[in-house]
Amino acid sequence: MSKLIYLDGELVPEEQAKVSVFDHGLLYGDGVFEGIRAYNGRIFRLDQHIDRLYRSAHAIMLNIGMTKEEMAAAVVKTVRANELRDAYIRLVVTRGVGDLGLDPRQCPKATVFIIAATIKLYPEEMCRNGLQIITCSTRRNMPDAVDPALKSLNYLNNIMAKIETIRANAGEGLLLNNEGYVTECTGDNIFIVNGKRLITPPVSAGVLEGVTRDCVMELARVAGLEVEEGLFRLTAVYNAHECFLTGTAAEVISVTEVDGRAIGSGTPGPATGMLQQRFADYVRQEGTPVYS
Ligand code: PMP
Repeated sequence: MSKLIYLDGELVPEEQAKVSVFDHGLLYGDGVFEGIRAYNGRIFRLDQHIDRLYRSAHAIMLNIGMTKEEMAAAVVKTVRANELRDAYIRLVVTRGVGDLGLDPRQCPKATVFIIAATIKLYPEEMCRNGLQIITCSTRRNMPDAVDPALKSLNYLNNIMAKIETIRANAGEGLLLNNEGYVTECTGDNIFIVNGKRLITPPVSAGVLEGVTRDCVMELARVAGLEVEEGLFRLTAVYNAHECFLTGTAAEVISVTEVDGRAIGSGTPGPATGMLQQRFADYVRQEGTPVYS
């Protein structure tokens, strides 16, 4: 069945969902986006995703031209029109159609599109047994250049790292910042666990403030774990008791090996398993209902 895509205020069949070759999202990566999940007919943390989208847009002086409420309603409408209960939703806002110059003033109106699709998850075996990841030689963008905290359409930094990851046949690729501190993976945040203590790099290290990251930090605190945002280097990862990644697509996934070193026992650890379970339970209860 052909998908219905939300494009600039209308739902159109995917064959008709086309954007101009003069769109600055395409010409320059000038825009912002979100990846959102729906579970069991509920959109997970929709308001948080929309807040992040508007924060990213504000930082690049991009006027979305819709209120947050209108945007949330457009997301719900798109999922409903496609009759999905479980979905991966891609929400994209570009600077819009302009000319061949950089000048954003030539783009009078942002382009907004929303795709609600079914999701391709990590293979079941990886979810159960954990990922083997590598550290990439590509460094994370410096926050004072293109800040990774902005979810912009400029994902080349991540893609360079993804190419290294694929070439190494690894499950994910970890990026360090210019000072050698651990930041995040190509599409996921990272946590290490030592006893009852969880540590994840601060946003200022050059990471996206992941919605899943926030949720897992809350769930961990409720479960009695200590949660810290702090800088650490690779050695701390190699010697951690446990390591896991979080992301909209990955949810919570164990990392059992980094650069050939087994992490802890080399199998998914108990804190990771507990958080995976709590997250899975939580997403099924919480969220904006699509069908009411
Ligand atoms: N870091 C990067 C670079 C990402 O692209 C993503 C989103 N896939 C994440 C972290 C995780 O963020 P979230 O939990 O909001 O999906």
